[in-house]
Amino acid sequence: MSDVVRVEELCRTFRTGAIEVQAVRGVSFSIEEGAMVAIMGPSGSGKTTLMNMLGCLDRPTGGHYFLGGDDVAKKSDDALAAIRNRRIGFIFQNYNLLPALNALENVELPLVYRGMAAGERHLVATQVLAEVGLGELISFRPYELSGGQQQRVGIARALAGKPNLLLADEPTGNLDSASGEEILNLFLALNAAGRTVIIVTHDEQVALHCERIIRLKDGAVLSDRPVAADSRRMRGDLGTRAVVQ
Ligand code: ADP
Ligand code: MG
Repeated sequence: MSDVVRVEELCRTFRTGAIEVQAVRGVSFSIEEGAMVAIMGPSGSGKTTLMNMLGCLDRPTGGHYFLGGDDVAKKSDDALAAIRNRRIGFIFQNYNLLPALNALENVELPLVYRGMAAGERHLVATQVLAEVGLGELISFRPYELSGGQQQRVGIARALAGKPNLLLADEPTGNLDSASGEEILNLFLALNAAGRTVIIVTHDEQVALHCERIIRLKDGAVLSDRPVAADSRRMRGDLGTRAVVQ
Protein backbone atom coordinates (compact mmCIF):
# COMPACT_ATOMS: atom_id res chain seq x y z
CA MET A 1 0.00 0.00 0.00
CA SER A 2 1.30 3.45 -0.81
CA ASP A 3 1.11 6.48 1.44
CA VAL A 4 -1.61 8.99 0.58
CA VAL A 5 -0.37 11.47 3.14
CA ARG A 6 3.13 11.90 4.51
CA VAL A 7 4.13 14.81 6.73
CA GLU A 8 7.65 15.40 7.98
CA GLU A 9 8.41 17.82 10.81
CA LEU A 10 5.36 19.84 9.78
CA CYS A 11 5.08 23.25 11.49
CA ARG A 12 2.60 26.11 11.45
CA THR A 13 3.35 29.28 13.37
CA PHE A 14 0.85 32.12 13.53
CA ARG A 15 2.20 35.62 14.03
CA THR A 16 -0.10 38.38 15.18
CA GLY A 17 1.87 41.51 16.04
CA ALA A 18 4.50 40.60 18.62
CA ILE A 19 2.77 37.35 19.57
CA GLU A 20 3.80 34.06 18.02
CA VAL A 21 1.76 30.88 18.38
CA GLN A 22 3.33 27.59 17.34
CA ALA A 23 0.06 25.80 16.62
CA VAL A 24 1.76 22.77 14.99
CA ARG A 25 5.36 22.03 15.89
CA GLY A 26 7.23 19.28 14.10
CA VAL A 27 4.53 16.71 13.34
CA SER A 28 5.52 13.60 11.35
CA PHE A 29 3.41 10.63 10.23
CA SER A 30 2.33 8.71 7.13
CA ILE A 31 -1.12 7.46 6.28
CA GLU A 32 -1.62 4.56 3.89
CA GLU A 33 -4.19 4.46 1.17
CA GLY A 34 -7.50 3.06 2.46
CA ALA A 35 -6.76 3.78 6.14
CA MET A 36 -9.21 5.23 8.64
CA VAL A 37 -7.37 7.34 11.20
CA ALA A 38 -8.61 9.43 14.13
CA ILE A 39 -6.85 12.57 15.31
CA MET A 40 -7.57 13.45 18.93
CA GLY A 41 -6.35 15.98 21.45
CA PRO A 42 -7.59 18.73 23.75
CA SER A 43 -8.91 22.05 22.43
CA GLY A 44 -6.09 24.19 21.15
CA SER A 45 -3.76 21.24 20.51
CA GLY A 46 -3.48 22.08 16.80
CA LYS A 47 -5.95 19.61 15.26
CA THR A 48 -7.73 22.11 13.02
CA THR A 49 -4.47 23.79 12.03
CA LEU A 50 -3.08 20.39 11.02
CA MET A 51 -6.24 19.40 9.13
CA ASN A 52 -6.30 22.71 7.25
CA MET A 53 -2.77 21.99 6.03
CA LEU A 54 -3.64 18.39 5.10
CA GLY A 55 -6.64 19.77 3.19
CA CYS A 56 -4.46 22.34 1.38
CA LEU A 57 -6.57 25.13 2.89
CA ASP A 58 -3.42 26.48 4.56
CA ARG A 59 0.31 26.17 3.99
CA PRO A 60 2.90 24.98 6.53
CA THR A 61 5.52 27.44 7.77
CA GLY A 62 8.01 24.57 8.10
CA GLY A 63 8.53 20.92 7.24
CA HIS A 64 7.08 18.94 4.36
CA TYR A 65 3.73 17.66 3.19
CA PHE A 66 3.63 15.00 0.50
CA LEU A 67 0.19 14.26 -0.88
CA GLY A 68 0.20 11.12 -3.01
CA GLY A 69 3.97 11.64 -3.34
CA ASP A 70 3.69 15.27 -4.55
CA ASP A 71 5.45 17.94 -2.51
CA VAL A 72 2.63 20.37 -1.74
CA ALA A 73 5.06 23.23 -0.93
CA LYS A 74 6.16 23.31 -4.56
CA LYS A 75 2.61 23.88 -5.88
CA SER A 76 1.19 27.25 -6.90
CA ASP A 77 -2.05 28.49 -5.31
CA ASP A 78 -3.95 27.53 -8.47
CA ALA A 79 -2.47 24.04 -8.45
CA LEU A 80 -3.42 23.69 -4.76
CA ALA A 81 -6.98 24.79 -5.51
CA ALA A 82 -7.17 22.10 -8.20
CA ILE A 83 -5.83 19.47 -5.76
CA ARG A 84 -8.44 20.54 -3.21
CA ASN A 85 -11.17 20.29 -5.78
CA ARG A 86 -10.23 16.90 -7.19
CA ARG A 87 -8.33 14.87 -4.64
CA ILE A 88 -9.62 15.96 -1.24
CA GLY A 89 -13.09 16.08 0.29
CA PHE A 90 -13.23 18.29 3.40
CA ILE A 91 -16.02 18.02 5.97
CA PHE A 92 -16.48 20.73 8.61
CA GLN A 93 -17.94 20.64 12.13
CA ASN A 94 -20.43 23.43 11.31
CA TYR A 95 -21.20 22.00 7.82
CA ASN A 96 -20.27 25.27 6.03
CA LEU A 97 -23.31 25.13 3.74
CA LEU A 98 -24.47 28.23 1.89
CA PRO A 99 -27.87 29.13 3.42
CA ALA A 100 -29.28 30.63 0.21
CA LEU A 101 -28.69 27.42 -1.78
CA ASN A 102 -30.67 24.20 -1.49
CA ALA A 103 -29.00 20.82 -0.83
CA LEU A 104 -28.55 20.08 -4.53
CA GLU A 105 -27.02 23.49 -5.28
CA ASN A 106 -24.67 23.23 -2.29
CA VAL A 107 -23.41 19.87 -3.54
CA GLU A 108 -23.10 21.18 -7.11
CA LEU A 109 -20.91 24.11 -6.08
CA PRO A 110 -17.49 22.38 -6.25
CA LEU A 111 -18.51 21.00 -9.65
CA VAL A 112 -19.35 24.54 -10.84
CA TYR A 113 -15.79 25.57 -9.89
CA ARG A 114 -14.56 22.60 -11.86
CA GLY A 115 -16.39 23.82 -14.96
CA MET A 116 -18.68 20.80 -15.25
CA ALA A 117 -21.73 21.29 -17.52
CA ALA A 118 -25.06 21.89 -15.75
CA GLY A 119 -26.67 18.61 -16.82
CA GLU A 120 -23.80 16.43 -15.67
CA ARG A 121 -23.46 18.44 -12.45
CA HIS A 122 -27.10 17.89 -11.65
CA LEU A 123 -26.75 14.17 -12.27
CA VAL A 124 -23.65 13.76 -10.09
CA ALA A 125 -25.08 15.85 -7.23
CA THR A 126 -28.38 13.97 -7.29
CA GLN A 127 -26.49 10.69 -7.19
CA VAL A 128 -24.25 11.54 -4.21
CA LEU A 129 -27.19 12.98 -2.27
CA ALA A 130 -29.02 9.68 -2.80
CA GLU A 131 -25.89 7.82 -1.64
CA VAL A 132 -25.91 9.67 1.69
CA GLY A 133 -29.62 8.97 2.13
CA LEU A 134 -30.97 12.40 1.17
CA GLY A 135 -32.55 11.53 -2.18
CA GLU A 136 -35.90 12.94 -1.09
CA LEU A 137 -34.56 16.19 0.30
CA ILE A 138 -32.46 17.63 -2.51
CA SER A 139 -34.54 20.80 -2.86
CA PHE A 140 -34.45 21.63 0.88
CA ARG A 141 -32.44 24.59 2.15
CA PRO A 142 -30.05 24.05 5.08
CA TYR A 143 -32.44 25.67 7.62
CA GLU A 144 -35.11 23.12 6.67
CA LEU A 145 -32.82 20.22 7.54
CA SER A 146 -31.72 18.72 10.87
CA GLY A 147 -28.05 18.92 11.92
CA GLY A 148 -27.46 15.32 10.88
CA GLN A 149 -29.07 15.97 7.48
CA GLN A 150 -27.00 19.14 7.01
CA GLN A 151 -23.85 17.17 7.75
CA ARG A 152 -24.95 14.59 5.15
CA VAL A 153 -25.18 17.43 2.61
CA GLY A 154 -21.66 18.44 3.70
CA ILE A 155 -20.46 14.88 3.11
CA ALA A 156 -22.26 14.68 -0.26
CA ARG A 157 -20.54 17.93 -1.30
CA ALA A 158 -17.19 16.45 -0.27
CA LEU A 159 -17.95 13.30 -2.29
CA ALA A 160 -19.16 15.12 -5.43
CA GLY A 161 -15.64 15.53 -6.79
CA LYS A 162 -14.92 11.80 -6.24
CA PRO A 163 -11.89 12.38 -4.00
CA ASN A 164 -9.90 9.49 -2.55
CA LEU A 165 -9.06 11.36 0.63
CA LEU A 166 -11.75 12.51 3.06
CA LEU A 167 -10.78 14.90 5.85
CA ALA A 168 -13.35 15.59 8.56
CA ASP A 169 -12.79 18.10 11.38
CA GLU A 170 -15.08 17.09 14.29
CA PRO A 171 -17.93 16.11 11.93
CA THR A 172 -20.11 14.87 14.80
CA GLY A 173 -19.17 17.66 17.22
CA ASN A 174 -22.47 19.54 16.83
CA LEU A 175 -24.72 16.47 16.65
CA ASP A 176 -26.77 14.48 19.16
CA SER A 177 -25.52 10.93 19.68
CA ALA A 178 -28.01 9.22 17.33
CA SER A 179 -27.20 11.57 14.43
CA GLY A 180 -23.51 11.30 15.30
CA GLU A 181 -23.69 7.52 15.02
CA GLU A 182 -25.36 7.78 11.59
CA ILE A 183 -22.59 10.05 10.40
CA LEU A 184 -19.97 7.66 11.81
CA ASN A 185 -21.68 4.79 9.94
CA LEU A 186 -21.45 6.80 6.76
CA PHE A 187 -17.71 7.35 7.21
CA LEU A 188 -17.19 3.65 7.96
CA ALA A 189 -19.03 2.73 4.76
CA LEU A 190 -17.09 5.29 2.72
CA ASN A 191 -13.86 3.85 4.12
CA ALA A 192 -15.02 0.28 3.41
CA ALA A 193 -15.62 1.43 -0.19
CA GLY A 194 -11.91 2.30 -0.43
CA ARG A 195 -11.58 5.94 0.58
CA THR A 196 -8.91 7.09 2.99
CA VAL A 197 -10.53 8.85 5.97
CA ILE A 198 -8.87 11.14 8.52
CA ILE A 199 -11.29 12.25 11.20
CA VAL A 200 -10.70 14.69 14.06
CA THR A 201 -12.86 13.79 17.02
CA HIS A 202 -13.32 14.35 20.75
CA ASP A 203 -15.45 11.23 20.93
CA GLU A 204 -13.60 8.09 22.10
CA GLN A 205 -16.38 5.94 20.59
CA VAL A 206 -15.79 7.47 17.16
CA ALA A 207 -12.03 7.04 17.54
CA LEU A 208 -12.34 3.39 18.60
CA HIS A 209 -13.97 2.63 15.23
CA CYS A 210 -10.83 3.83 13.47
CA GLU A 211 -7.73 1.70 12.86
CA ARG A 212 -5.35 4.11 14.43
CA ILE A 213 -5.40 7.10 16.77
CA ILE A 214 -2.92 9.97 16.54
CA ARG A 215 -3.07 12.09 19.70
CA LEU A 216 -1.82 15.67 19.66
CA LYS A 217 -0.81 17.83 22.57
CA ASP A 218 0.47 21.39 22.33
CA GLY A 219 0.94 21.03 18.57
CA ALA A 220 3.03 17.84 18.75
CA VAL A 221 2.26 14.12 18.45
CA LEU A 222 1.77 12.67 21.93
CA SER A 223 1.06 9.13 20.70
CA ASP A 224 0.33 7.33 17.45
CA ARG A 225 -1.06 3.83 17.97
CA PRO A 226 -3.22 1.24 16.25
CA VAL A 227 -6.61 0.56 17.82
CA ALA A 228 -6.77 -3.02 19.09
CA ALA A 229 -8.91 -5.26 16.91
CA ASP A 230 -11.26 -6.16 19.78
CA SER A 231 -12.08 -2.47 20.28
CA ARG A 232 -13.17 -2.38 16.65
CA ARG A 233 -15.35 -5.48 16.79
CA MET A 234 -18.46 -3.36 16.17
CA ARG A 235 -17.09 -2.01 12.92
CA GLY A 236 -18.53 -4.67 10.63
CA ASP A 237 -21.98 -4.48 12.22
CA LEU A 238 -22.16 -0.73 11.91
CA GLY A 239 -20.75 -0.71 8.38
CA THR A 240 -23.43 -3.00 6.99
CA ARG A 241 -26.16 -0.70 8.29
CA ALA A 242 -24.84 2.30 6.37
CA VAL A 243 -26.27 3.42 3.08
CA VAL A 244 -23.24 4.01 0.91
CA GLN A 245 -22.00 1.07 -1.20
P1 ADP B 1 -7.76 22.60 17.92
O1 ADP B 1 -8.44 22.41 16.61
O2 ADP B 1 -7.00 21.38 18.39
O3 ADP B 1 -8.71 23.09 18.99
P2 ADP B 1 -6.39 24.83 16.63
O4 ADP B 1 -5.60 24.23 15.53
O5 ADP B 1 -7.67 25.50 16.28
O6 ADP B 1 -6.63 23.72 17.77
O7 ADP B 1 -5.50 25.89 17.41
C1 ADP B 1 -4.19 25.59 17.86
C2 ADP B 1 -3.56 26.86 18.42
O8 ADP B 1 -3.32 27.78 17.37
C3 ADP B 1 -4.43 27.60 19.43
O9 ADP B 1 -3.59 28.16 20.41
C4 ADP B 1 -5.08 28.66 18.60
O10 ADP B 1 -5.43 29.79 19.39
C5 ADP B 1 -3.99 29.01 17.60
N1 ADP B 1 -4.52 29.47 16.31
C6 ADP B 1 -5.28 28.77 15.46
N2 ADP B 1 -5.58 29.48 14.36
C7 ADP B 1 -4.97 30.70 14.53
C8 ADP B 1 -4.89 31.89 13.74
N3 ADP B 1 -5.49 31.96 12.53
N4 ADP B 1 -4.19 32.93 14.23
C9 ADP B 1 -3.58 32.85 15.43
N5 ADP B 1 -3.61 31.76 16.22
C10 ADP B 1 -4.29 30.69 15.79
MG1 MG C 1 -10.46 22.51 16.07
